[in-house]
Amino acid sequence: MSEGFPARPEPPLVLAISECLLGTEVRYDGSGAKISFPHRVLSELFEYRGICPEVAVGMGVPREPIRLADIDGVIRAVEVSDPAGDFTKPLRHYGERVALELGDVAGYVFMNGSPSCGLHGVKVYPYQLGKLSGAPDRSGRGIHAGAIVARLPQLPVEEGLRLHDVVLRENFICRTFAYAHWRNLCSEGLNQVNLMAFHDRYRYLLMAHSTEHLQQAGRWIANLKDTIDTNRNGYLPILMAGLKRTASRSGHASVLTHLQCYLKRDLDGPARRELAASITGYRRGEQPLQAPLALLKLHLGHRPDDYLRYQTYLDPYPEVA
Ligand code: SF4
Repeated sequence: MSEGFPARPEPPLVLAISECLLGTEVRYDGSGAKISFPHRVLSELFEYRGICPEVAVGMGVPREPIRLADIDGVIRAVEVSDPAGDFTKPLRHYGERVALELGDVAGYVFMNGSPSCGLHGVKVYPYQLGKLSGAPDRSGRGIHAGAIVARLPQLPVEEGLRLHDVVLRENFICRTFAYAHWRNLCSEGLNQVNLMAFHDRYRYLLMAHSTEHLQQAGRWIANLKDTIDTNRNGYLPILMAGLKRTASRSGHASVLTHLQCYLKRDLDGPARRELAASITGYRRGEQPLQAPLALLKLHLGHRPDDYLRYQTYLDPYPEVA
């Protein structure tokens, strides 16, 4: 099954990142924001490409701060001190240009809350007749981030601060490696055989995150026939949307139960019971996921099974020291 199949890329993958998250002093007040990103954990997996759209469009450091403003129903990035200072167009155009240059990146981490780089919940201030007319809501997305996401909807994206959360961080890392692996597959030539092999590898990972998307992917492949060239982008949106969902305890337990079946005939009674008890313990919240996973991997080490060996569920991204 692995013969000639493109390998998942090894670290470091290239990650685009808001430049201030690297600690570079490019914010409006000349500061950086290194603390808003978990460097120690991610630096072994990624090589960073810092991007500061506000500096890139010539706003300088230090500069007048900007905010998102709702002016006659249109969201703009304007100077806080004077809404006539409108940077919406240059920021959007720069984002569209950058998106064309991100062919080698596996993900993009944005600075939260920024009118340029914020991904979710950026404050939007209402304006009427050129004046602030009320309290902000948190419905906005930074202009640069919006341009990137619109051009590259499948690129894994996240905010730096959220990556301090271990569940969100693991989810993001997993998506970046899957995305990079898919890109490798496409660059080596996508055909029905290697698409099926790719899906086989991601089947249980996708099941853990979303059975709904696993079914969608199965239907998409079943309807593929010989239209692979025109439909080549149909699989990735399903995979990315599914992996974006956080894997639940019941999702993991269901996958573990499936994987256990592959080993059943090779295990003696006590080993089978120990594995089953460990999965049940995990399902009930009495054991960490690592317990049944470690047992599965241990048995797999003694009785290699080609199908299981390549399951990305068991190894969603490379381990680093
Ligand atoms: S949030 Fe974006 S625009 Fe603002 S300083 Fe950081 S990289 Fe530059």
